[in-house]
Amino acid sequence: MIGKAAFSTVAVATLFACTTPAEPPGTQAAVDQYVAEAQRIAGTDLKFLMPVCNPQPAVRATPGPAMDEMLGKLINQPPPEPGQAFDNLFYVGATWVSAWVLKTSEGLILIDALNNAKEASDLIEGGMRRLRLDPAQIRYVLVTHGHGDHYGGAQMIAERYGARIVASEIDWKMMETGLEFDSTHWDRPPRRDIAVKDGDTLTLGDTTVRFMVTPGHTLGTISPVFDVRDHGRIHKAMIWGGTSFNFGRDMGRLDSYIAQTERMRQLSAQWGIDVPLSNHPAVDGTVAKLKARADDPTGPNPFVSGQPVVDRAMRVLNACARAQRGRFLLAPTAGASPREAGVGQVAAAADAPSPGLAAIRLPFPNVAEAGDHAGL
Ligand SMILES: [Zn+2]
Repeated sequence: MIGKAAFSTVAVATLFACTTPAEPPGTQAAVDQYVAEAQRIAGTDLKFLMPVCNPQPAVRATPGPAMDEMLGKLINQPPPEPGQAFDNLFYVGATWVSAWVLKTSEGLILIDALNNAKEASDLIEGGMRRLRLDPAQIRYVLVTHGHGDHYGGAQMIAERYGARIVASEIDWKMMETGLEFDSTHWDRPPRRDIAVKDGDTLTLGDTTVRFMVTPGHTLGTISPVFDVRDHGRIHKAMIWGGTSFNFGRDMGRLDSYIAQTERMRQLSAQWGIDVPLSNHPAVDGTVAKLKARADDPTGPNPFVSGQPVVDRAMRVLNACARAQRGRFLLAPTAGASPREAGVGQVAAAADAPSPGLAAIRLPFPNVAEAGDHAGL
Protein backbone atom coordinates (compact mmCIF):
# COMPACT_ATOMS: atom_id res chain seq x y z
CA MET A 1 0.00 0.00 0.00
CA ILE A 2 1.02 3.57 -0.59
CA GLY A 3 1.17 5.77 2.47
CA LYS A 4 1.19 9.53 2.70
CA ALA A 5 4.08 11.61 3.87
CA ALA A 6 4.56 11.86 7.59
CA PHE A 7 8.00 12.77 8.85
CA SER A 8 9.67 15.59 10.61
CA THR A 9 10.94 18.69 8.94
CA VAL A 10 14.59 19.52 8.66
CA ALA A 11 15.43 22.99 9.81
CA VAL A 12 15.60 25.20 6.76
CA ALA A 13 17.80 27.74 8.43
CA THR A 14 20.79 25.46 8.16
CA LEU A 15 20.18 24.48 4.57
CA PHE A 16 22.88 26.67 3.16
CA ALA A 17 25.25 26.43 6.07
CA CYS A 18 27.00 23.46 4.55
CA THR A 19 29.87 25.22 2.87
CA THR A 20 31.05 28.79 3.13
CA PRO A 21 33.93 29.74 0.88
CA ALA A 22 35.79 32.90 1.82
CA GLU A 23 35.86 34.04 -1.79
CA PRO A 24 32.83 35.95 -3.05
CA PRO A 25 30.44 33.78 -5.08
CA GLY A 26 30.69 34.10 -8.81
CA THR A 27 34.48 34.21 -8.88
CA GLN A 28 36.79 31.59 -10.30
CA ALA A 29 38.44 31.41 -6.89
CA ALA A 30 35.12 30.39 -5.34
CA VAL A 31 34.59 27.72 -7.98
CA ASP A 32 38.08 26.37 -7.38
CA GLN A 33 37.45 26.39 -3.64
CA TYR A 34 34.26 24.34 -3.96
CA VAL A 35 36.02 21.80 -6.16
CA ALA A 36 38.93 21.60 -3.73
CA GLU A 37 36.51 21.16 -0.86
CA ALA A 38 34.71 18.36 -2.70
CA GLN A 39 38.06 16.72 -3.39
CA ARG A 40 39.08 16.97 0.25
CA ILE A 41 35.78 15.55 1.52
CA ALA A 42 35.75 12.76 -1.08
CA GLY A 43 39.21 11.54 -0.13
CA THR A 44 40.00 8.26 -1.80
CA ASP A 45 36.96 6.18 -0.85
CA LEU A 46 34.49 8.56 -2.53
CA LYS A 47 36.66 9.64 -5.43
CA PHE A 48 34.21 8.03 -7.87
CA LEU A 49 31.92 10.98 -7.10
CA MET A 50 34.43 13.55 -8.32
CA PRO A 51 33.45 13.45 -12.03
CA VAL A 52 30.29 15.22 -10.88
CA CYS A 53 32.53 18.23 -10.23
CA ASN A 54 33.68 18.42 -13.86
CA PRO A 55 32.46 21.52 -15.72
CA GLN A 56 29.14 20.94 -17.46
CA PRO A 57 27.91 22.61 -20.66
CA ALA A 58 25.45 25.47 -20.44
CA VAL A 59 23.20 23.90 -23.07
CA ARG A 60 21.83 20.43 -22.61
CA ALA A 61 22.70 17.82 -25.20
CA THR A 62 20.40 17.50 -28.19
CA PRO A 63 18.92 14.13 -29.17
CA GLY A 64 20.22 12.82 -32.45
CA PRO A 65 22.77 10.48 -33.98
CA ALA A 66 25.67 11.76 -31.87
CA MET A 67 23.78 11.19 -28.63
CA ASP A 68 22.56 7.81 -29.82
CA GLU A 69 26.11 6.79 -30.62
CA MET A 70 27.33 7.89 -27.21
CA LEU A 71 24.47 6.11 -25.45
CA GLY A 72 25.05 3.00 -27.57
CA LYS A 73 28.61 2.81 -26.32
CA LEU A 74 27.47 3.15 -22.73
CA ILE A 75 24.68 0.61 -23.11
CA ASN A 76 26.72 -1.96 -25.00
CA GLN A 77 29.47 -2.33 -22.43
CA PRO A 78 29.73 -5.95 -21.25
CA PRO A 79 27.43 -6.28 -18.24
CA PRO A 80 28.65 -7.15 -14.75
CA GLU A 81 27.64 -10.33 -12.99
CA PRO A 82 24.31 -10.02 -11.19
CA GLY A 83 24.85 -10.15 -7.46
CA GLN A 84 23.58 -9.94 -3.93
CA ALA A 85 24.32 -6.85 -1.87
CA PHE A 86 22.19 -7.72 1.18
CA ASP A 87 19.91 -10.50 2.37
CA ASN A 88 17.06 -8.61 0.68
CA LEU A 89 18.78 -6.51 -2.04
CA PHE A 90 20.09 -7.74 -5.38
CA TYR A 91 21.78 -6.11 -8.37
CA VAL A 92 20.55 -7.00 -11.85
CA GLY A 93 21.75 -3.89 -13.64
CA ALA A 94 24.15 -3.05 -16.42
CA THR A 95 27.64 -1.58 -16.35
CA TRP A 96 26.28 1.91 -17.04
CA VAL A 97 22.92 1.99 -15.26
CA SER A 98 21.58 0.13 -12.23
CA ALA A 99 18.58 -2.07 -11.57
CA TRP A 100 18.02 -3.22 -7.99
CA VAL A 101 15.63 -5.85 -6.70
CA LEU A 102 14.30 -5.41 -3.18
CA LYS A 103 12.91 -8.64 -1.80
CA THR A 104 10.00 -8.50 0.64
CA SER A 105 7.83 -11.10 2.34
CA GLU A 106 5.08 -10.40 -0.21
CA GLY A 107 6.98 -10.12 -3.46
CA LEU A 108 9.65 -8.07 -5.18
CA ILE A 109 10.15 -4.37 -5.85
CA LEU A 110 12.26 -3.56 -8.91
CA ILE A 111 14.06 -0.24 -8.70
CA ASP A 112 14.63 1.03 -12.26
CA ALA A 113 14.19 -0.93 -15.46
CA LEU A 114 17.19 -0.16 -17.73
CA ASN A 115 17.07 1.23 -21.29
CA ASN A 116 14.66 -1.00 -23.16
CA ALA A 117 12.71 -4.26 -23.07
CA LYS A 118 15.54 -6.30 -24.53
CA GLU A 119 18.04 -5.14 -21.94
CA ALA A 120 15.44 -5.65 -19.19
CA SER A 121 14.85 -9.16 -20.46
CA ASP A 122 18.55 -10.01 -20.74
CA LEU A 123 19.79 -8.45 -17.53
CA ILE A 124 16.81 -8.06 -15.20
CA GLU A 125 14.92 -11.25 -15.98
CA GLY A 126 18.10 -13.18 -16.80
CA GLY A 127 19.96 -11.89 -13.76
CA MET A 128 17.06 -12.60 -11.44
CA ARG A 129 16.82 -16.19 -12.59
CA ARG A 130 20.54 -16.62 -12.00
CA LEU A 131 20.02 -15.26 -8.49
CA ARG A 132 17.06 -17.61 -7.98
CA LEU A 133 14.58 -14.75 -7.92
CA ASP A 134 11.31 -15.19 -9.80
CA PRO A 135 10.46 -12.21 -12.06
CA ALA A 136 6.81 -13.22 -11.75
CA GLN A 137 7.04 -12.02 -8.14
CA ILE A 138 7.73 -8.40 -9.18
CA ARG A 139 4.87 -6.38 -7.72
CA TYR A 140 6.17 -2.84 -8.24
CA VAL A 141 8.61 -1.14 -10.59
CA LEU A 142 9.97 2.14 -9.23
CA VAL A 143 11.23 4.57 -11.87
CA THR A 144 13.61 6.85 -9.98
CA HIS A 145 13.40 9.55 -12.65
CA GLY A 146 12.00 10.13 -16.11
CA HIS A 147 15.03 9.47 -18.26
CA GLY A 148 14.97 6.50 -20.63
CA ASP A 149 17.86 4.63 -19.07
CA HIS A 150 15.67 4.14 -15.99
CA TYR A 151 12.20 3.65 -17.50
CA GLY A 152 12.99 1.90 -20.82
CA GLY A 153 12.12 -1.63 -19.70
CA ALA A 154 9.40 -0.67 -17.23
CA GLN A 155 6.32 -1.16 -19.42
CA MET A 156 7.41 -4.61 -20.55
CA ILE A 157 8.08 -5.78 -17.00
CA ALA A 158 4.80 -4.33 -15.78
CA GLU A 159 2.76 -5.96 -18.54
CA ARG A 160 4.47 -9.30 -18.36
CA TYR A 161 4.12 -9.69 -14.60
CA GLY A 162 1.17 -7.47 -13.72
CA ALA A 163 3.38 -5.12 -11.75
CA ARG A 164 2.46 -1.54 -10.88
CA ILE A 165 4.80 1.27 -11.90
CA VAL A 166 5.67 4.02 -9.43
CA ALA A 167 7.13 7.43 -10.30
CA SER A 168 6.81 10.94 -8.96
CA GLU A 169 3.85 13.00 -10.14
CA ILE A 170 6.17 15.57 -11.64
CA ASP A 171 8.19 13.06 -13.65
CA TRP A 172 5.02 11.26 -14.81
CA LYS A 173 3.97 14.60 -16.24
CA MET A 174 7.33 15.00 -17.91
CA MET A 175 7.16 11.51 -19.40
CA GLU A 176 3.63 12.22 -20.67
CA THR A 177 4.06 15.72 -22.02
CA GLY A 178 7.66 16.13 -23.07
CA LEU A 179 10.81 14.18 -22.49
CA GLU A 180 13.96 16.06 -21.58
CA PHE A 181 16.04 13.47 -23.39
CA ASP A 182 15.14 10.82 -25.91
CA SER A 183 17.02 8.22 -27.88
CA THR A 184 16.40 5.45 -30.34
CA HIS A 185 17.90 3.13 -27.72
CA TRP A 186 15.04 3.80 -25.32
CA ASP A 187 11.63 2.20 -25.36
CA ARG A 188 8.67 4.51 -24.87
CA PRO A 189 7.90 5.77 -21.37
CA PRO A 190 5.55 3.60 -19.37
CA ARG A 191 1.90 4.49 -19.14
CA ARG A 192 1.04 6.56 -16.07
CA ASP A 193 0.35 4.46 -13.02
CA ILE A 194 1.05 5.25 -9.37
CA ALA A 195 2.21 8.80 -8.67
CA VAL A 196 3.95 9.47 -5.38
CA LYS A 197 4.92 12.64 -3.61
CA ASP A 198 7.73 13.51 -1.28
CA GLY A 199 7.68 11.36 1.83
CA ASP A 200 5.05 8.90 0.59
CA THR A 201 5.71 5.29 1.47
CA LEU A 202 5.10 1.96 -0.19
CA THR A 203 4.61 -1.00 2.12
CA LEU A 204 4.82 -4.49 0.69
CA GLY A 205 4.81 -7.29 3.26
CA ASP A 206 7.59 -6.68 5.77
CA THR A 207 9.21 -3.84 3.82
CA THR A 208 8.50 -0.13 3.55
CA VAL A 209 10.09 2.15 0.96
CA ARG A 210 10.00 5.88 1.56
CA PHE A 211 10.05 8.00 -1.57
CA MET A 212 12.05 11.16 -1.06
CA VAL A 213 11.54 13.56 -3.94
CA THR A 214 14.92 15.21 -4.47
CA PRO A 215 14.52 17.51 -7.50
CA GLY A 216 17.64 18.56 -9.32
CA HIS A 217 18.73 16.00 -11.87
CA THR A 218 15.08 15.98 -12.98
CA LEU A 219 12.24 17.96 -11.46
CA GLY A 220 10.81 14.84 -9.84
CA THR A 221 13.77 12.64 -9.05
CA ILE A 222 13.00 10.08 -6.35
CA SER A 223 15.65 8.96 -3.86
CA PRO A 224 14.15 5.90 -2.16
CA VAL A 225 15.02 5.04 1.46
CA PHE A 226 14.50 1.53 2.82
CA ASP A 227 15.89 -1.02 5.27
CA VAL A 228 18.32 -3.69 4.16
CA ARG A 229 19.46 -6.71 6.15
CA ASP A 230 22.97 -8.07 6.32
CA HIS A 231 22.91 -11.54 7.87
CA GLY A 232 19.80 -10.42 9.67
CA ARG A 233 21.25 -7.14 10.91
CA ILE A 234 19.26 -4.10 9.77
CA HIS A 235 20.81 -1.14 7.99
CA LYS A 236 19.21 1.80 6.21
CA ALA A 237 19.88 2.44 2.54
CA MET A 238 19.27 5.40 0.27
CA ILE A 239 19.58 5.31 -3.49
CA TRP A 240 20.50 8.80 -4.71
CA GLY A 241 18.07 9.05 -7.60
CA GLY A 242 19.82 11.42 -9.99
CA THR A 243 23.40 12.53 -9.98
CA SER A 244 24.68 14.53 -12.93
CA PHE A 245 24.05 18.13 -13.93
CA ASN A 246 23.07 17.34 -17.51
CA PHE A 247 20.27 19.92 -17.64
CA GLY A 248 22.26 22.87 -18.94
CA ARG A 249 22.26 26.33 -17.43
CA ASP A 250 19.26 25.92 -15.17
CA MET A 251 20.10 27.79 -11.98
CA GLY A 252 16.85 26.77 -10.32
CA ARG A 253 17.73 23.13 -10.66
CA LEU A 254 21.20 23.68 -9.29
CA ASP A 255 19.76 25.58 -6.34
CA SER A 256 17.36 22.72 -5.78
CA TYR A 257 20.15 20.17 -6.04
CA ILE A 258 22.13 22.12 -3.46
CA ALA A 259 19.13 22.24 -1.13
CA GLN A 260 18.25 18.58 -1.58
CA THR A 261 21.75 17.25 -0.95
CA GLU A 262 21.79 19.27 2.25
CA ARG A 263 18.30 18.11 3.23
CA MET A 264 19.17 14.45 2.67
CA ARG A 265 22.48 14.93 4.49
CA GLN A 266 20.55 16.06 7.54
CA LEU A 267 17.87 13.39 7.21
CA SER A 268 20.52 10.71 6.76
CA ALA A 269 21.87 11.59 10.20
CA GLN A 270 18.36 11.72 11.67
CA TRP A 271 17.36 8.40 10.16
CA GLY A 272 20.70 6.63 10.46
CA ILE A 273 21.19 6.00 6.75
CA ASP A 274 24.44 4.06 6.51
CA VAL A 275 24.23 2.47 3.04
CA PRO A 276 24.71 5.00 0.19
CA LEU A 277 23.64 3.63 -3.18
CA SER A 278 23.16 5.04 -6.66
CA ASN A 279 21.22 4.19 -9.79
CA HIS A 280 24.45 4.31 -11.79
CA PRO A 281 27.04 1.81 -10.55
CA ALA A 282 30.00 4.03 -11.35
CA VAL A 283 28.74 6.47 -8.74
CA ASP A 284 28.72 4.10 -5.78
CA GLY A 285 31.28 1.47 -6.69
CA THR A 286 28.56 -1.18 -6.91
CA VAL A 287 30.35 -3.62 -9.20
CA ALA A 288 33.52 -3.75 -7.10
CA LYS A 289 31.47 -4.03 -3.90
CA LEU A 290 29.39 -6.89 -5.30
CA LYS A 291 32.55 -8.72 -6.21
CA ALA A 292 34.08 -8.09 -2.79
CA ARG A 293 30.97 -9.39 -1.09
CA ALA A 294 30.80 -12.46 -3.31
CA ASP A 295 34.46 -13.19 -2.56
CA ASP A 296 33.91 -12.91 1.21
CA PRO A 297 30.19 -13.38 1.93
CA THR A 298 30.62 -13.64 5.68
CA GLY A 299 33.04 -10.71 6.07
CA PRO A 300 32.14 -7.06 6.61
CA ASN A 301 29.60 -5.97 4.01
CA PRO A 302 31.33 -3.47 1.68
CA PHE A 303 28.01 -1.73 1.02
CA VAL A 304 27.72 -0.71 4.70
CA SER A 305 29.75 2.47 4.48
CA GLY A 306 28.43 4.06 7.68
CA GLN A 307 26.43 7.21 8.23
CA PRO A 308 29.50 9.54 8.17
CA VAL A 309 30.22 8.40 4.62
CA VAL A 310 26.64 9.19 3.57
CA ASP A 311 27.15 12.62 5.13
CA ARG A 312 30.34 13.11 3.15
CA ALA A 313 28.78 11.89 -0.11
CA MET A 314 26.01 14.46 0.20
CA ARG A 315 28.57 17.15 0.95
CA VAL A 316 30.65 16.21 -2.09
CA LEU A 317 27.61 16.45 -4.37
CA ASN A 318 26.60 19.69 -2.68
CA ALA A 319 30.03 21.26 -3.22
CA CYS A 320 30.12 20.11 -6.85
CA ALA A 321 26.69 21.68 -7.47
CA ARG A 322 27.93 24.91 -5.92
CA ALA A 323 31.01 24.82 -8.14
CA GLN A 324 28.84 24.37 -11.23
CA ARG A 325 26.56 27.18 -10.08
CA GLY A 326 29.63 29.38 -9.70
CA ARG A 327 30.76 28.56 -13.23
CA PHE A 328 27.43 29.64 -14.64
CA LEU A 329 27.57 32.84 -12.61
CA LEU A 330 30.93 33.54 -14.21
CA ALA A 331 29.35 33.35 -17.66
CA PRO A 332 25.95 34.86 -17.02
CA THR A 333 24.61 34.77 -20.56
CA ALA A 334 26.05 31.56 -21.95
CA GLY A 335 23.20 29.28 -22.88
CA ALA A 336 20.84 31.09 -20.54
CA SER A 337 17.35 29.68 -20.37
CA PRO A 338 14.55 32.25 -20.67
CA ARG A 339 13.01 30.53 -17.68
CA GLU A 340 15.98 30.80 -15.41
CA ALA A 341 14.79 33.92 -13.68
CA GLY A 342 11.43 32.37 -12.92
CA VAL A 343 10.75 31.67 -9.28
CA GLY A 344 8.30 29.01 -8.20
CA GLN A 345 7.76 26.79 -5.25
CA VAL A 346 8.47 23.15 -5.18
CA ALA A 347 5.42 22.69 -3.03
CA ALA A 348 3.19 24.08 -5.74
CA ALA A 349 4.99 22.34 -8.57
CA ALA A 350 4.93 18.96 -6.94
CA ASP A 351 1.70 19.57 -5.06
CA ALA A 352 3.63 18.06 -2.22
CA PRO A 353 2.04 17.78 1.19
CA SER A 354 5.36 17.06 2.80
CA PRO A 355 6.52 19.74 5.20
CA GLY A 356 10.07 18.58 4.57
CA LEU A 357 9.99 19.83 1.02
CA ALA A 358 7.15 22.30 1.11
CA ALA A 359 8.92 24.40 3.69
CA ILE A 360 11.89 24.89 1.43
CA ARG A 361 11.32 27.78 -0.91
CA LEU A 362 13.33 27.27 -4.02
CA PRO A 363 13.76 29.16 -7.23
CA PHE A 364 12.43 26.41 -9.39
CA PRO A 365 10.58 26.07 -12.65
CA ASN A 366 7.06 24.73 -12.41
CA VAL A 367 5.77 21.54 -13.90
CA ALA A 368 4.88 22.90 -17.31
CA GLU A 369 8.47 23.76 -17.93
CA ALA A 370 9.58 20.17 -17.87
CA GLY A 371 8.69 19.97 -21.53
CA ASP A 372 10.26 23.28 -22.41
CA HIS A 373 13.80 22.04 -22.15
CA ALA A 374 14.20 21.39 -25.82
CA GLY A 375 16.54 18.57 -26.54
CA LEU A 376 17.69 16.32 -23.84
ZN1 LIG B 1 18.98 10.83 -15.75
